Amino acid sequence: MKGTGCFFALLQALLLLAWARPCVAEVKLHSLPHQPRQGEAFLLQVLSDSPLGSVTGSWRNRTIHFFPGPDRRRFEAILGVDLAQAPGRSLVRVEIRTTGGDRRSLRTPLDVLPVDFPVQRLTLPRRMVTLSRKTLDRVMREKARVSRLFQDLDTKKRWGAGFMPPLQGAVLSPFGARRILNGEPRSPHSGVDLKASEGTPVRASSDGIVALVAEHYFAGKSVYLDHGGGIVSMYFHLSQVRVRQDDRIRKGEVIGLVGKTGRATGPHLHWGVRVAGSRVDPFSVVKIFREEALR
Ligand SMILES: [Zn+2]
Repeated sequence: MKGTGCFFALLQALLLLAWARPCVAEVKLHSLPHQPRQGEAFLLQVLSDSPLGSVTGSWRNRTIHFFPGPDRRRFEAILGVDLAQAPGRSLVRVEIRTTGGDRRSLRTPLDVLPVDFPVQRLTLPRRMVTLSRKTLDRVMREKARVSRLFQDLDTKKRWGAGFMPPLQGAVLSPFGARRILNGEPRSPHSGVDLKASEGTPVRASSDGIVALVAEHYFAGKSVYLDHGGGIVSMYFHLSQVRVRQDDRIRKGEVIGLVGKTGRATGPHLHWGVRVAGSRVDPFSVVKIFREEALR
């Protein structure tokens, strides 16, 4: 009898413990694609069987900004692997807080796959390659201006409607191409060059705010759109810009016309995307939304 009493006391204690503890959510981490490649954007999802209070995280010493779905059972973030980031394994850390105030830490390994980027040899007139002191100073100033832009971004998510290419055109120069200019290795191509004739309308890839309108030495007439949550898209070599600084833009709105301003041998659109500063293939961002309709 004594043993039975003990058993019931234990059962009662366990039941009390279960009653007193708030329900612990079943939470899973999911990345799409499962193994991102160098220069690729990817979606990180936190999926829970019950609503969550908050989700924060970090990857490679960078804060991850998660955005909740309407029922707070799903939190999502878009991350990017810079084209020059070394392939291999790193840990994604996520901290969740249930609506009852329970905290939990999750860790998951993430493998970045290597990409053999194509080599592209270009020949340009010497005057376009060898820069004078004055031009170099100008290029440095422009570079600093663009770096500041990436440090001062809107945290509000505006890309809910997904991303689209700014125009339909063949790829003239692919993302990540290792460029050899007049026989000398240069920075890899951080965007894609799309074939289009002068004056073709260039459309905003997603909803956003005009973060910068500029006329830079290399990029020519250019527009930078801040889509929130660390995502920026850029459009270079325009013949005309149709927007102004701080304008709110809708996905698909015409922001300018194709041209060949800056260092360009002919009319085309250079389209680039950065995710938390990482240079990613713009088509990889479009693809995420095709495969997984974000709300
Ligand atoms: Zn380009």
